[in-house]
Amino acid sequence: GEEKLKHTRNPLFVRINTLRGGKIEDLDGLDCEETPIEHVYRVSCVSSINDLKVYRDGKIVIQNIASCLPALHTILNPEEHSRVIDTCSAPGNKTSHLSMIMNNTGKIHAFEMDPNRVETLRTQLNKLGVTNTEVVHDDFIASAPEEFEAVRYVLCDPSCSGSGIHLNYKPDQDRIDHLKAFQIKIVEHALKFRPEKLIYSVCSEHREECEEVVEEVLRNPEYDLEDISGFWKSDESLGFPFSHKVIRCRSNSESGSIGFFIALFESVERQRVADG
Ligand code: SAM
Repeated sequence: GEEKLKHTRNPLFVRINTLRGGKIEDLDGLDCEETPIEHVYRVSCVSSINDLKVYRDGKIVIQNIASCLPALHTILNPEEHSRVIDTCSAPGNKTSHLSMIMNNTGKIHAFEMDPNRVETLRTQLNKLGVTNTEVVHDDFIASAPEEFEAVRYVLCDPSCSGSGIHLNYKPDQDRIDHLKAFQIKIVEHALKFRPEKLIYSVCSEHREECEEVVEEVLRNPEYDLEDISGFWKSDESLGFPFSHKVIRCRSNSESGSIGFFIALFESVERQRVADG
């Protein structure tokens, strides 16, 4: 929302929401530029956007460009009619993007633990015309895989330090270590659902929340990283053995990107099948 925007150093991006029939013409009158990401535009008029009918009608979504990467056809690419879990969903930017990519088919189980944020999530999904999603007001880590039909894709975008977004961010090592432990736990729990693919993303620049989480998760021999580096140019490598496969960006006021990190895990079994 607007409140958040005031506290970021970043320009505004909008995503066209085809679930509400949003189209490029809906941006007429906004001073906007294309981006390399389908349906995503950079706009310069920040103050008035909340007043626009197309915004209120859910035809456009305010969403940072980095936040539009995980669900993409080139990255997680959930197939239509499949089953998906979003482990940490509110306010629902990525959930609704997943839904749009699936054309509202199949089913997304969207977990959110926080009672206030779960309401925001519901409101946002309704506003955006999402109909293939069941909101689960629960701690994802307490969910049992055997209670769900086979899940093929997981999006895991857990709470993080937000070091890639917040203007006056002050690192706190205890908090970062605590977040890292939580992030590992939630990804490892998600892998118990045996998805074909799991996308992990954080808007952090700390190696603890990024590569060190991946490093730990890779101890599971059933999953490996898929190389997604070609879809967005990383601007930094910390020299981990898998650094060439992940996306890692510092926040950059010129490109308007927030700082973020994305890694795509794929089941080794599935990779073997795909490779014949
Ligand atoms: N993916 C969201 C989006 O793109 O709009 C942003 C998610 S935000 C980074 C993380 C969310 O996870 C918060 O709303 C938080 O309340 C929720 N959360 C944290 N721990 C959780 C857990 N164990 N189970 C479910 N939700 C959790």
